[in-house]
Amino acid sequence: MMAAPRDLRLVDRLPKVRGTYRANANLGQYTWLRVGGPAEVLFRPADEADLAVFMAGKPADVPVTVVGVGSNLLVRDGGVPGVTIRLGKGFTDITHDGHIVRAGAACLDLNVAIQAREWGLSGLEFLSGIPGTIGGALRMNAGAYGREMKDVTLAAEAIDAKGERQYTTNGALCFGYRHSGMPADWIFVAAELKTESGEPAAIAARMAEIQAKREDSQPIRTRTGGSTFANPEGSKAWELIDAAGCRGLKRGGAMVSEKHCNFLINTGEATAADLEDLGEDVRSRVNAKFGVELRWEIKRIGVRLEGGK
Ligand SMILES: Cc1cc2nc3c(=O)[nH]c(=O)nc-3n(C[C@H](O)[C@H](O)[C@H](O)COP(=O)(O)OP(=O)(O)OC[C@H]3O[C@@H](n4cnc5c(N)ncnc54)[C@H](O)[C@@H]3O)c2cc1C
Repeated sequence: MMAAPRDLRLVDRLPKVRGTYRANANLGQYTWLRVGGPAEVLFRPADEADLAVFMAGKPADVPVTVVGVGSNLLVRDGGVPGVTIRLGKGFTDITHDGHIVRAGAACLDLNVAIQAREWGLSGLEFLSGIPGTIGGALRMNAGAYGREMKDVTLAAEAIDAKGERQYTTNGALCFGYRHSGMPADWIFVAAELKTESGEPAAIAARMAEIQAKREDSQPIRTRTGGSTFANPEGSKAWELIDAAGCRGLKRGGAMVSEKHCNFLINTGEATAADLEDLGEDVRSRVNAKFGVELRWEIKRIGVRLEGGK
């Protein structure tokens, strides 16, 4: 393969698409933590066919990263090399065929729960408590209040690295605790979710209950990335973090939430490095006290800035 001429900009090497390319695009604005450097190129595909054309035609040396609404994402200060893909309007259809709800990967989980409620379909109430998209929920096997994607997903559709459409049923998705085992370069485009008949009023009551519990226990009105670390086997990350004395711990503009100490918060001026270093500080304190290695649940993407950031 011939190396790309040095002065050719990345956008000029990418396939012709119907969606949009934006060079040097601010990514932090698309994340809950509101930090991080730019995407070298941000691609917003028009629809599934457009995404497939891009994946089939992009140069092999260009890395691809996909983001949802960044509710589980820390973008590092040096930005993300290559192409970052953010699905939008072409991926937000929600339809149903009997008890099967089909939702595009860019749908907010909350909107899927609301639409199912309108149709008198129950089983997706837990999604109303997760502030991400269906694509992010599939990748993370997102869950709350006793249910997770593994319990409701019949199948997922994805575009693979060659631009081919993949249809995968639940068993093959290899769902585990806050992850799915699908190849990292697959981009989910839709999910088929199972539901059952329910009373809209009862579904609404369950969603209100979930919302009240969240308000009570999580700092949901702050710049956060949700649970920072996965719960280790047999214990709760927040209990270990608390017992290691990390509640309220600060580094630069980053802070361990007082309300829920498995949540990191950007108090206003944090850099991604502040947040990541604070997280690493928490990990080493927990390890020193309990001999437990916490695993990052938040996905960290991109590169650190030179010079210590
Ligand atoms: C206040 C708060 C509360 C939260 N509560 C919960 C909770 O109760 N339960 C829970 O499970 N999570 C919770 N989260 C975390 C987060 O909402 C979930 O992990 C969510 O599923 C992430 O979806 P997203 O669209 O924001 O994905 P992003 O954060 O943008 O990305 C997360 C991962 O998914 C991948 N991804 C995104 N879209 C796609 C796609 N189309 N195809 C392939 N991969 C994709 C990304 O590459 C990345 O690896 C919470 C977060 C916050 C901020």
